[in-house]
Amino acid sequence: MTLIDGKLISKQVKEELKIEVDKIIAEGGKIPHLAAVLVGDNGASETYVASKIRSCEQIGFKSTLVRRDANATEEEVLEIIDELNKDEDIDGFIVQLPLPDHINVDKVIEAIDPKKDVDGFHPINIGRMAKGLPAYVSATPYGVLELMKRYDIETSGKHCVVVGRSQIVGLPMSILMQRNAYPGNCTVTLTHSRTKNLKEITLQADILVAALGKPEFITEDMVKEGAVVIDIGLTRVKDDSKKSGFALKGDVKFDEVSPKASFITPVPGGVGLMTVASLMHNTLLASKGEIYG
Ligand code: NAP
Repeated sequence: MTLIDGKLISKQVKEELKIEVDKIIAEGGKIPHLAAVLVGDNGASETYVASKIRSCEQIGFKSTLVRRDANATEEEVLEIIDELNKDEDIDGFIVQLPLPDHINVDKVIEAIDPKKDVDGFHPINIGRMAKGLPAYVSATPYGVLELMKRYDIETSGKHCVVVGRSQIVGLPMSILMQRNAYPGNCTVTLTHSRTKNLKEITLQADILVAALGKPEFITEDMVKEGAVVIDIGLTRVKDDSKKSGFALKGDVKFDEVSPKASFITPVPGGVGLMTVASLMHNTLLASKGEIYG
């Protein structure tokens, strides 16, 4: 079994980005600039945004954080987006999800200029990705592809089973794994909460991607011997032994499943760290105008 080390690979990706940014700056080019919009006081969101800002600093990007409290109206958030769309110094920006319930998330995402949508959540970017056109690919699925590449994981002709069909994780993951490219060329099965015979299907997976948000849901009896297991799940569970009062759990019961897997991502230390690295990658693409020119 090979443990896929997201900590190591995300560090490598960020170091490579830093080399490129240093070169751009040395040549008098524009410093890439990422903005993040954070609405409300969700603890996990605070942590994710702080880590994105820290990564910008490490790589040499400029960053801007726009904060509003949980009472911010949809109109206010849309106004912020309009300003960020027009701000010529900002290459890309993200709106950290989830948003408070009174704000329509689709309306907010659709207000983002697709050229600055470095999270790859705008329907135009999802559509372009599905057609195989240049697009910002959402950061978590992109991070998974990067891990597969760097570990030389064979994907062509394999059966990839994705558990979870969310717009930001499971669905794009399934689209990417079926495309005629590497990583890709898989036969893909996309499963969800209405899937009746889930275990029967996961047992056929050469590559199993768990993205359902149910801690330790995937157990040993659901996994084929030699499968590649990618655990995207990241749930905070109460743990009094930790200083923070919680532990992060994946969707896979790691201790049980890892002896059967050929490759497996741990949680923490797997896909999560790659998400931030991929966002940084997309921001650099945005500043170079590589997707939309
Ligand atoms: P989500 O929007 O809640 O979607 C969960 C998906 O799982 C839904 O499609 C749901 O089916 C499906 N599902 C739920 N219970 C199931 C079951 N018993 N059997 C089969 N499918 C089931 O969640 P998400 O945003 O995709 O996130 C999924 C997980 O990934 C979460 O733990 C999240 O924290 C994590 N995540 C991690 C990163 C990272 O950087 N590592 C980034 C994003 C998300 P229905 O569609 O039928 O409801």
